Amino acid sequence: MIDLEWMFQLVSSFLPEWALQRLTATYFRANSWYTVGFGKFHSSQTSVDHVKMKVKILPALSDNYMYLLMDESTKEAAIVDPVEPKTVLAAVEETGANLTTVLTTHHHWDHAGGNKELVSLFNKPLRVLGGDDRIGALTQKVTHGDAIKVGSLNIECLFTPCHTQGHICYNVTSPEADHKPAVFTGDTLFLGGCGKFFEGSAVEMHKALIEILGVLPDHTLVYCGHEYALHNLRFGLHVEPNNKAIQDKLAWVQAQRENGLPSVPSTIGEEKQINPFMRVTEGPVQQHAGTSDGVATMAAIRTEKDNWKPPKL
Ligand SMILES: [Zn+2]
Repeated sequence: MIDLEWMFQLVSSFLPEWALQRLTATYFRANSWYTVGFGKFHSSQTSVDHVKMKVKILPALSDNYMYLLMDESTKEAAIVDPVEPKTVLAAVEETGANLTTVLTTHHHWDHAGGNKELVSLFNKPLRVLGGDDRIGALTQKVTHGDAIKVGSLNIECLFTPCHTQGHICYNVTSPEADHKPAVFTGDTLFLGGCGKFFEGSAVEMHKALIEILGVLPDHTLVYCGHEYALHNLRFGLHVEPNNKAIQDKLAWVQAQRENGLPSVPSTIGEEKQINPFMRVTEGPVQQHAGTSDGVATMAAIRTEKDNWKPPKL
């Protein structure tokens, strides 16, 4: 995994905003061309049926995910983190979605960097949500507990500062009983991992993962911001070598990736079994960290993972 985000933090401290945006865009695009090839995607586009909603998974850059979520009854749709607007517009056309809303998880370029272009290319006004003034084209700043509608879908904003101080996760539910709920977690919760603590602390990530995301129903599907599952699950096995759920999930993800398929979505219940950062209150993870405190465990395994490399196979 290339540390793009560390580079972003480093350069953002001394460049003016316009130069930073241009440099960052160039860097992410070049890295994507280098790792997946010009005009290619890191995974296939796939769709997930949530009964009342369809989620189209749109791979972007070298390992990002954008998500087009569409209410089945009205075709009204929202797009999560549209960093590659042209891919989004093609998906909107193909699905017949009535796109009205942009849900931005956080201000980092590989998530929010396409907002302005999408708004300028789109033939109708879009409302652009996010929790941070650094997000481009923002029309509606949101905070914890704010709720909006997209068709019949309810979208609740969950404030999860740590990776950045304005990070929002979006929890999508429906009044219909058979709907499968979904949460879009950006760079807070990944499949098997969590985002780096660029602007926050272990206390904040503990709150985000255990008290906010961890209390959602277990069957909630989790759509995260990056395809990091293989690396994350290998680290998970380093923390808990005997965790059968991680072993099984790793084998499944390896097969998915070999076929060019996304590893997302997982579920909240599954993350509680396979994700060491959601398991900081569990004995084996605390033993690995050498403490019996959940927050201290969160801090210890994050620090360890920041420098961890999987053993050569
Ligand atoms: Zn980020």
